[in-house]
Amino acid sequence: MDAVSSWTARIGRVVSPAGDTASKQLYFAAIMLGYTVLISLSHVEMVLTGQFLAALGVLLVATALAVVIRWEELRPLWGALVPVLDMVAVALVRDLMRESSMAVSLLVLIPVLWMAARLRMTGVSIAVLAVTVLIAAPSLARADAIDSLTITHSLLLPFIVLQVGMLVVGALKLLDGQHRKLASALEEKAALLEAAATSEQLLKNVIDSVGVGIVVVDRDGHDVLMNSAQQRIHQISSPEGNDDPSEAELTLRYPGTTTPLPPDQRPVRRAVLQETYSNYLVSVGPAGVAGTTFAASARQILDRRGERDGAVVVFSDVSSYIEMVRSQQRFVAAVSHELRTPLTSVIGYLEMAQDTPELPPEAASYLEVAHRNAEQLLLIAQDLLADQVARSGTQKLTLRPHRLSAIAEQVVEDFALRAEQEGITVVQDVEQTPELSLDAPRLQQAVGNLLSNALKYTPAGGTVRVQTRVRQNEVELCVTDTGIGMSDQEQANLFTDYYRTETARDRHIPGHGIGLSLTRRLVVAHGGQISVRSRPGEGSTFTLRFAQRPEGGADGTA
Ligand code: ADP
Repeated sequence: MDAVSSWTARIGRVVSPAGDTASKQLYFAAIMLGYTVLISLSHVEMVLTGQFLAALGVLLVATALAVVIRWEELRPLWGALVPVLDMVAVALVRDLMRESSMAVSLLVLIPVLWMAARLRMTGVSIAVLAVTVLIAAPSLARADAIDSLTITHSLLLPFIVLQVGMLVVGALKLLDGQHRKLASALEEKAALLEAAATSEQLLKNVIDSVGVGIVVVDRDGHDVLMNSAQQRIHQISSPEGNDDPSEAELTLRYPGTTTPLPPDQRPVRRAVLQETYSNYLVSVGPAGVAGTTFAASARQILDRRGERDGAVVVFSDVSSYIEMVRSQQRFVAAVSHELRTPLTSVIGYLEMAQDTPELPPEAASYLEVAHRNAEQLLLIAQDLLADQVARSGTQKLTLRPHRLSAIAEQVVEDFALRAEQEGITVVQDVEQTPELSLDAPRLQQAVGNLLSNALKYTPAGGTVRVQTRVRQNEVELCVTDTGIGMSDQEQANLFTDYYRTETARDRHIPGHGIGLSLTRRLVVAHGGQISVRSRPGEGSTFTLRFAQRPEGGADGTA
């Protein structure tokens, strides 16, 4: 089967317009010789006639010319010489075979096809002329009577040659058109590929020249691009002895702590889970190594149909900025610490002054205002100090088995009087929770911040609910209020330092935006999570979640 197809392919190459003159002629000579041999089996006398031998002679000359001459160096018109000689040979043989002259005449179509293929309409014209002169004219000359029958029959062969030739020329023209189209399409494609390669190189140079780490993932979360800055970050965060870790194996921690980020909190994972976020702080690599805190931002990539096609995550090194902020924090801590002692003394003396008998009402009201503001100042100083201590990571958590439900009850009790004064109902919906490793006083401070906010941002007549419950492997504590609530946009920045919502500022509700960021840090230090759900005008729910496992990730540093 293989041999047959290889022969077919070879013959196809010879007879195609691309085949060279020598191989075409050898092919035609082989056909003519085969024909001669077959005839000589029964009519050897025909073959031995002068005319047949002359035909073979012409064929021999044509074949010799085809092999010897370098046709590609001559003008194309010379290409007609060998086919015309072949036609002469056919005409001579045909002349001998009177009985079956039409059948022999068909042999002439082979050189006609070659000429039409090579010289197009010129070839067809030469072929028609040659057939008329070599075959049609002699037939007419030999006819007994020249009438319409003989004329029509003699013109039949030139007519068929004309038709076949035109068919070949037409088909080749069509092929040429397709070939040109294909060539121009290929050229265009090559140019596009070249342009794509150039812009890819440009993009690579640009993203490699920026100082921020860039990683692009496809919709399944596989890396498709990582610039050199990101490769360095990858290297820093690789665990020791692992040169090619997967994303899940990289050492990523909550900023400034040794607490590892849970899998669904890792920046790339969050992006793969279709989150878009900005300035998400993470520390990478072994704890205590300088220059390793990054702000990550993620955006989703959409394809041309607007469907999600992956995500890009950018990491910028904020270590020096954080170091600067830390030194400012140390300064603020020192100042607030120093403020506490004189303020406590001022408050003490103000209280003594307020206790003075027969104080004029006007002076009493001045002292009242001074006392309230001094208290407020002391509160701010204390909060600032607590916040700075928590940020500096110097305060160790003292972890002991404790129930979150007990903390909730304690906090509700602490705030009962204030709630009553503010006309807010506090509902305690506490289900006893299992013991966890907690620093009770610090967590009490965190839950206290939430309850204090709930009371502060809920108008009189509202309700605040403190709830604990056990869910699967988690222990949950929720503080829900029916207060002013927050928009989605306000919630996005809620745990950022010194952030206050516009609603809170517009309503002149006192506060300084420290409580929630401090609360978040305390919760995270316990290996927990904090989240919020809120609607403007309807209220808010803050939820703390802790894994039931005691080794929930807490490292004991707030
Ligand atoms: P602040 O001292 O301003 O209350 P926080 O850090 O505790 O500082 O809170 C930050 C901001 O979050 C608040 O200023 C307020 O705008 C908003 N907020 C906090 N808790 C609530 C709440 N329960 N309802 C509405 N807004 C709240």
